Formats: sequence, C-alpha cells, structure tokens
Amino acid sequence: MSASLPIPFAIGEIVWRCGNGHVEEYLVCPECAGTKALTLVQGNGEQVFIACACCSLGSDPPSGRVKRTRFEHRPERFLCARVDVNGDVIRYRDDALSCSYCEATRLFRSHEECQRACDAENAQRAEEEKARAIANLASKRRDMAWSVHYWGRKVRDLAKDLETARARLAVCKDRA
Ligand SMILES: [Zn+2]
Repeated sequence: MSASLPIPFAIGEIVWRCGNGHVEEYLVCPECAGTKALTLVQGNGEQVFIACACCSLGSDPPSGRVKRTRFEHRPERFLCARVDVNGDVIRYRDDALSCSYCEATRLFRSHEECQRACDAENAQRAEEEKARAIANLASKRRDMAWSVHYWGRKVRDLAKDLETARARLAVCKDRA
C-alpha cells in the first residue's frame, strides 16, 4: 500500500509571493501643523501655550514632524526549491531569498493575482497604521491636558507659597 500527497506547486516551479516593502516618511505634524506648539483653552477660558507632545519623542523637544510608515508590498518571483509539510500546512522555500519558508496560501501562479493580494495587504496595513496614529494622537492629547492641569496647579500652589513667604517677611520687617 502506498500513499501520495498532492502539493499545490511543483518543485522547480516559479511563482509569485508578496515581497516585503515599506518606506519611512516624515510628515508635518497634524496636531501643531509644524509649529511645535499648541494653544489650549482651559475650561475657565484661560489660554495656555504648550509644547506639542504629538511630535516629540520621549523627553526630546518637539520637531514639528511625525514619522509614518507607507507599506509597499510588491510581487516578487519565488522559486519553489524545497517543500515542507507539517500537518495541513504546506510551505515552500526559495534558497536564493533570504527568508524562511513561505506558506503555500501566500504564493500565487499569476503576477496579477499576487498584485491584488499585495494591494489588499498594503491597504490593510495602511488602515492599521492610521488607527495607530489616531490612538497615539488621542493619548498625547490626554497627556497634554494632564500636563496643563498639573503645571497650572503647581503655579497656583507656588504663588500661594510666595504670598505666604512675603507675608512672613513683612511681619519680620515690622518687628525690626
Ligand atoms: Zn506637533
């Protein structure tokens, strides 16, 4: 008795896979429009100026620019040189490409089909990048609101301390 397993691509067959590709680009900060500062209007109508947190990394000063990743997956020729079957997962390897095994479901016979898969992946990753940027913006806005609240309270407390210190000195002067 013998058993045979059909594989989707023959060894030696040239197919297409979604090649990795992305470009890091810098855009003008959407929060401060590149000015590195923001004007915040507090609940009591008071305006405060604050360094933009959206375009500053860690404790660095704001740069007025934000980094974005643009995904550019493109079809790449793939030679099915080796096959690996593990359970129902079939993977191929192209020895010339510096990558590990690629799943058969991510390989395509036609360039057009692969291009469509690349376009879909680029669109999906662009959406994810956009969602991440929006979440980051919301988080930075919360940080800035907290910062304005914190430093505003600090200024009021210090002003009160200064007033108390001056009053003490006035008493000392009276006695002298
Ligand atoms: Zn900014």
